[in-house]
Amino acid sequence: MTKRSALKRSTLGMINIDPLQRGGILTPEARDALAEWGDGYSICDFCPGNLEEIKKPPIHDFVHRDLPEFLGTDHARVTNGAREGIFAVMHALGEEGGCVVMDGNAHYTSLVAAERAGLDVSLIPVSDRPQYRVEPEGYGDLLEDLFGRGEKVVLALLTYPDGNYGNIVDAKRVSSICKDYDVPLLLNCAYSVGRMPVSAKELGADFIVGSGHKSMAACGPVGVLGINEPHQEAVLRKSGYHKNKEIELLGCTARGATIMTLLASFPAVRARVAEWDSEVEKARWFSTEMENLGMVQMGDKPHNHDLMFFETPVLYEISKHAKKGRFFLYKELKKRKIHGIKSGLTKYFKLSTYGLSEDDLRYVVDAFDEIISTSV
Ligand SMILES: *Cc1c(COP(=O)(O)O)cnc(C)c1O
Repeated sequence: MTKRSALKRSTLGMINIDPLQRGGILTPEARDALAEWGDGYSICDFCPGNLEEIKKPPIHDFVHRDLPEFLGTDHARVTNGAREGIFAVMHALGEEGGCVVMDGNAHYTSLVAAERAGLDVSLIPVSDRPQYRVEPEGYGDLLEDLFGRGEKVVLALLTYPDGNYGNIVDAKRVSSICKDYDVPLLLNCAYSVGRMPVSAKELGADFIVGSGHKSMAACGPVGVLGINEPHQEAVLRKSGYHKNKEIELLGCTARGATIMTLLASFPAVRARVAEWDSEVEKARWFSTEMENLGMVQMGDKPHNHDLMFFETPVLYEISKHAKKGRFFLYKELKKRKIHGIKSGLTKYFKLSTYGLSEDDLRYVVDAFDEIISTSV
């Protein structure tokens, strides 16, 4: 039997710099909603037959009005996560022998979604260290090559930004290239929708995918999918057996507390994306401070996102002689109530500054400074 104490979360109350978790911290409203709607199928009290038509709680208005406006799309749906949205689109557009092109920095879930949809994958190359850049022109080169060989490209995907370096590619340029080849474009915005302003229409994308638990202050798993016309016909195709159920969504997706946390946080999330410039400023400041301590930020520089990847040779050197070896860093940070860098990593790691106060960020920088200067 699971002990009661094993159900306690030991990292609560610490400063969390895990990029995976920064944008998913619940608002007080979402925390209340989680308790209120925690019972299974609680949102279905007054269900008229499918999820997005539920008026009480106000899911209908969220899905049909607020969400498409927020994403800059004609249509929107709530999914069980970013990957589920990506898979739904790939599966709907897929055809025998088809393939998907995507940036070489794509998240593993994009590749697995393509595999599950039975599609081949071609990757746009990534430049070498330290920038790891994807050039928009890479899409043109790859599409030219694939069409020249008679391949059926059903979808292009751009990770915006990618989940390793936080690099932001010129999506407008990519979308205009894809239009030239008549290939629909999906933006994987797991790290942007809910953090920074993004609009599929402005960027020229056909689809946009977001992650509620990654970037929209929601309890997961939950995600959002925006669809521009005419693609709703394929992606939101209805069942022949149950006339109001959408096939790619298996009828209903987030049918419980997860969608309620998304709704509850939405006003705060919509407001916070307007503060994006100050988030970028904080990230840049943090990057400079880390570099002053001998760590090197990879990817775009100056950086344009709170997710940052650092090479940390100074910490690696310390780990060679530290009593706890490569676990010293995790232990030292834990002592200072800082969490979020994977235990055992010292050569490189990623972190996020999103939503942390300047004081907290200063505290984290000082902690690194202290760890380095007392260990050498
Ligand atoms: C986290 C992440 C995902 C997966 O998001 P889910 O909502 O958990 O499916 C996909 N892509 C990127 C770039 C991510 O960082």
